[in-house]
Parts: sequence; structure tokens; C-alpha cells
Amino acid sequence: MYDIKGLNEECGVFGIYGHDSAATLTYMALHALQHRGQEGAGIVASNGENLFGARGMGLLPEALPEQKVKSLASYKNAIGHVRYATTGASELSNVQPFLFKSHKGDLGLAHNGNLVNAKKVRDALEDEGAIFQTSSDSEVLAHLLAKSKAATRKDKIKHALKQIKGAFAFVILHEDSLTVALDDHGVRPLMLGEVDGAYCVASETCAFHAIGATYIRDIMPGEVLTITEDGIDEDRYVDTTYPNMCSMEYIYFARADSEFHQNSIYRIRKALGSALAEEMGDIDADMVIGVPDSSLAAAKGFSAQSGIINEQGLLKNRYVGRTFITPDQVMRERAVRMKLSPVYDLVKDKKVIVIDDSIVRGTTSKYIVQALKNAGAKEVHMGISSPPLKNPCYYGIDVSTHAEIIASKKSVAEIRVEIGADSLTYLSVDRMHDVFKQFGSRGQCDACFTGNYPIEIIDHILPQEKDRKVKGV
Ligand code: SF4
Repeated sequence: MYDIKGLNEECGVFGIYGHDSAATLTYMALHALQHRGQEGAGIVASNGENLFGARGMGLLPEALPEQKVKSLASYKNAIGHVRYATTGASELSNVQPFLFKSHKGDLGLAHNGNLVNAKKVRDALEDEGAIFQTSSDSEVLAHLLAKSKAATRKDKIKHALKQIKGAFAFVILHEDSLTVALDDHGVRPLMLGEVDGAYCVASETCAFHAIGATYIRDIMPGEVLTITEDGIDEDRYVDTTYPNMCSMEYIYFARADSEFHQNSIYRIRKALGSALAEEMGDIDADMVIGVPDSSLAAAKGFSAQSGIINEQGLLKNRYVGRTFITPDQVMRERAVRMKLSPVYDLVKDKKVIVIDDSIVRGTTSKYIVQALKNAGAKEVHMGISSPPLKNPCYYGIDVSTHAEIIASKKSVAEIRVEIGADSLTYLSVDRMHDVFKQFGSRGQCDACFTGNYPIEIIDHILPQEKDRKVKGV
């Protein structure tokens, strides 16, 4: 499956401790997190003594049919995972949560993010005799845990976490505890909630809404929380942290009804649109159109700031879903055509401003401009509610390679010509950060815009290339 935009979130995680319907709630929460990964899903549950797992390929109903979830229904603790597979690794063995059995006890493990020293650590572990079951970098943590000589389970986890680098939100299930950990930069989101007296954690708060849970707070960079029947133990695995949450989570990935730092993504995107309107300045246009769905909020904000009416000039075919396509240029263009179409009567003879959240390859923008002009629009101005996306991501997002990213090769003026728009305006990096700060952010990763990678890239392997390299393909 391939996202037409060229941006793919790698994963979503969920965990719950001490609830009679733990596996069922995990299934429902994974449904809400399905936008974060569509290639596989799994649940590992604990009965207090042992762990049991179910996982499969595809969207949730295929990956975890009712019978599989029912087999876990009586257990009180569970973790779950939805996965977007990177190239070359679309296979069941890489679908999480992983379940490891040993005489020291069972371990369930799920991860969102990407380690930047996984190959180095894995090579060292293999030199010492470790045998890996999967090509996933997440398995590295399990081996480090098994090897740790620290006295307590918590200290083993902290010891293992100190040896890995990159972006990670881990949920770890033992028979009698649920541990969650976030990397010291807090690149990926992870939230704490509570339902019917049981603690739960999720990549996004939309999962809490889906199960009727209350959102308590965001897990902070470097935090390690251990949930047992005695309650919650809050600790850190490092003393110093460097908050750098992924900007693209705010701009594109997270669901608009999710919240970061107690603020809805919808409101944040609206503010990004409003900031873009300020930066675009006066423009003679009849309407503002948001590209559905992720840019609708930004278009509302743009409209409120500019006073230009917001219309639904583009409709999305909701039943196309993520398309199974060979990701070449021709098929991408067909996929966009299937997914988005203009409202002819609305845009005919009008000057329109189209708001989108990002441009990766330019395929979608080019189609949109052309489609609106074919529908009779007199002028099509394009506004992007984020800065030019120029660099790949090493922290858990498949943003393609430099060669495929249009802004890494072309100037804004050249991109405007390429997509055929009458004007093209991006939000500046400074204004983007102003908006995030206004909504409680303490620091953001903006590497795909600026090239300033906050965590040193040790392996220099893109997530989508990692599996091939690990396998030596
Ligand atoms: S490089 Fe971009 S996509 Fe990757 S974590 Fe940073 S902001 Fe997010």
C-alpha cells in the first residue's frame, strides 16, 4: 500500500493495564490509530502469568479477525501495534508486537519510530552470538534487555534504553507490568490515559476517544513509566533531555481530533493556515479550498485570517482507501485522480487559493492545479501550511529519498512552474515554530525542512532501506 502524498507514518502503538476488556479495547484503539499504519497489526496480551499474541497482515479486520481477538478476550493487560511496512519488509515476521518467550519470563514489545544506531548495535550483538528473528530494528531492544546484568527489571530496561539512539516510543509488556518509554528527544508522540480505573497509553489521543478513556498527559522525552497493580511508577532513563517532537505529526500525520499538549491538532493546523495567510499577504481570490482531509483545518484558518470565503472545492473519494499500486509516476497520477476531484460548478471562472499541508514529489499538487483549471478556475494559487520539505527522515517516517523530493532539487519558483500554479507560497520555518510554541511545544524536529537533524544519524540508512540492508539484499 502506498500513500499518494509520499509520506508514510511508520507505526502506532497502544497499551493498557488492568482492564477486564484489555484486548477488545486494544483492538478498538488500534482501529483509531489505523491511519498510522495499514500493512499489519497485532496484539499481545497477558493473563498475569504468560503472554499470548495474535497478529496478521493488512488492515485491522484482516490482520486480526474476531476469532483472534476473542482468544485474548479474558486477559487484563495488553499492548497493540499497527504497522506501515518499509520497502522489502512486508512480511508477517516483522509485524509487531513481538513476543519473546524465555525461562526468565515472557516479553511483548512494540515500537513506533526508528533507531539510528540499530545496525551498529545489532552487528555487535550478532558478533556475541545473538540470533535475530526479524529484520526490524525494534528487536534490538529485546536482545539488550535479555543481556543486561542490571538487578531489577526496570534497571534492565533503563540500561538497554541507554544503548540505543534514535526515535522511539516503546510499549513493553511483561506478565505483571506494562512499561512505556520515550526517547530523550521525544520525537514520536505518546500519551497517557485512563479508562475505568485502568491506565492506558497510545500514540495519539484519538485512540482514547475511541475507547472512552480520559487523556491525562503527554509522556515526556526520556520518561520510563511502569504500570503495575500497585499503580504507576514515573522515572527517566536519562538526566538530560532535548525535546524535539516531529513537526510533521502536527502538520500531517496525526488525526485532526487528536491532541498534543492538551491542544487539538485541528486548532494547531488552523493556526498554521492563519500564519500562512499572514505571510502570503494580500491576494485577489474568490475562495480558499483545503485539500481533503488533512488540510481542511489549515484552509479554515487561512480563510478566517484573510477574510476570503472557504469552500469545499475538492472532494475526496472516501472509498478508494490506500491504493495497492506499483509506486511509479504514472500510477501515482492515476491514484490521485481516483482520490480527488473538483466541484466544477463551484470553481468555474473563479480565482482560487488551494491550501495543502505539504508537497513531497509534486504529483498531487500538479494534478490538483490541473484539475481545477480543467474545471474552469481562472487562477489557482497554492499555499502550503509548512516550509518546503527538502530532506528525508531517519526517525520513523518514510518521506522518500532526496531524489524523489521535489524541493531538494528545485527552488520554490521552479516548483511553481512544475505544478502549474499561478503562485506558490510556503509557510516559513520561523512562523511554523511560532505556532507550535503557541500550543505548548517545547521544541520540534524540523530536519526534513532544514536539514538540522537533532539526533546524529549513526547508521546513515533510511528506514525504508534498513530492512534490505539488514538482510543484505
Ligand atoms: S525529519 Fe521531519 S518527518 Fe522526520 S521526525 Fe523530523 S520533522 Fe518529523
